[in-house]
Amino acid sequence: MVYREGNLSQHSFAIARCAHSLLKKQQMTSAMTATNKPKRVYIETYGCQMNEDDSDRILRLLGDLDYVETKEADHADLVLINTCSVREKPEHKVYSALGRYKKLKEGRGTIIGVAGCVAQQEGERLLDRVPYLDLVIGTQAIHLLPRMLERIEEKERVCETGADPEGKYLTAPPFRKPLARVKSFVTIMQGCDHFCSFCIVPYVRGREKTRPSREVLDEVRHLAEMGGKEVCLLGQNVNSYGKGVVGELDFSDLLSRINEIEGIRRIRFTTSHPQDLSERLIQAFSKLEKLCEHIHLPFQSGSDRVLKRMHRGYTKASYLEKVDRLKNVCPSIAITGDVIVGFPGEEEEDFEETLALMKAVQFDDLFSFKYSPRKGTRAAQFEDRVEEKVKQKRLSILQELQRETTYQKNQALEAQVVEVLVEGRSKQGNQDISGRTRSNKIVNFRGGVDLTGHLIPVHITKAYQHSLRGEIKK
Ligand code: SAM
Ligand code: SF4
Repeated sequence: MVYREGNLSQHSFAIARCAHSLLKKQQMTSAMTATNKPKRVYIETYGCQMNEDDSDRILRLLGDLDYVETKEADHADLVLINTCSVREKPEHKVYSALGRYKKLKEGRGTIIGVAGCVAQQEGERLLDRVPYLDLVIGTQAIHLLPRMLERIEEKERVCETGADPEGKYLTAPPFRKPLARVKSFVTIMQGCDHFCSFCIVPYVRGREKTRPSREVLDEVRHLAEMGGKEVCLLGQNVNSYGKGVVGELDFSDLLSRINEIEGIRRIRFTTSHPQDLSERLIQAFSKLEKLCEHIHLPFQSGSDRVLKRMHRGYTKASYLEKVDRLKNVCPSIAITGDVIVGFPGEEEEDFEETLALMKAVQFDDLFSFKYSPRKGTRAAQFEDRVEEKVKQKRLSILQELQRETTYQKNQALEAQVVEVLVEGRSKQGNQDISGRTRSNKIVNFRGGVDLTGHLIPVHITKAYQHSLRGEIKK
């Protein structure tokens, strides 16, 4: 084992299976024919938590094939680049990463592969453009990896970008020894049916697919048995969990069932689409003691005109109403979000509406992006593009406002005692340990690493922009 700390659009899945002709012998890897030494895999992951979880599943699958993870590509027998195309122009990045690994193929015969959104989008084109590339793993093909590696051994170059209606790609082999981490992601669904006009997700991840609750609950129980304390349930829109699946739990029921699992101390989830945020889910924040007081609720814009063109399905007023409900039910809830500036046609007054929404909500933190067109999406055809320098200016103004709010929110915690789940040694490289509050803020404080995995009351002594400092409450 390796241990490591929406309907897909038909066109993107048209190239379901393809195998390239034989590679020249010297290009082929010696790794798969090598001796009894464990093989080593290096994986480079871009993008969001879903991609991190995909990499985790890939590593667990490879673990069953006796691969161990290495942090140095130079030592690897297999190098994988797990790509994301949601927010950045990723193709360029992928080709330059592949360029870096060319010498490994030539020198050690390393197997080189690409996974994730770019693999899904580009498919066989990647094999055509990069002659030393062996492997293209589409977003729904992770479970096929063992067979793909066998085919590479048989001197094929392999590309799998077909759809997997049964959702086998979402499962992974169990962990075989205790976890070296306290929190884990658990993918509960994939894909998205919303088709926001700016977003590539439904095209590269497919339509919404619910992972059976039986499997999800088994995985969470297993994580608890292996020492896991916190789970973060992942999906592009977790609120749609179970929708349209006869006899399946809905998302609130799934949370209640996870709340009952012994050993799990904290539950989080991401992401919620505001349109689908139900009253039952809002109520769960007061009913389920393990559900942490934090919700990530992307709003994208505060202007109704822009929201409509984005095809978001809510208005500024209805978003604010849901936020009010959340704050009524759970006054200490931390709210974070995603926002895009410079969407086509965004005028100064639309941007002002976005700032007004931010002031009304008082987000604990925000992920903010400049709009960037994605090929194949509706908004990519909108012609009223916003100039780059205008986008940049709006982004800076918005980020400055958020910096102030985040700092004020952190300052409000000074002199309070908060519960921290200790995750281990602090990343600051000193004697501190570090963990997170239920509201997901980082806290650094003096203590032994043996406290890892424990819930500790910490007295907050100082607030910073990105973290808090404290001391264990005597
Ligand atoms: N499903 C979530 C939702 O609807 O709120 C969001 C998932 S999306 C993968 C993550 C974020 O990337 C979005 O909330 C949006 O802010 C940003 N994003 C997606 N496409 C973008 C684009 N074309 N340009 C800029 N930002 C984008
Ligand atoms: Fe789905 Fe819209 Fe979120 Fe993209 S931004 S994943 S289309 S809800």
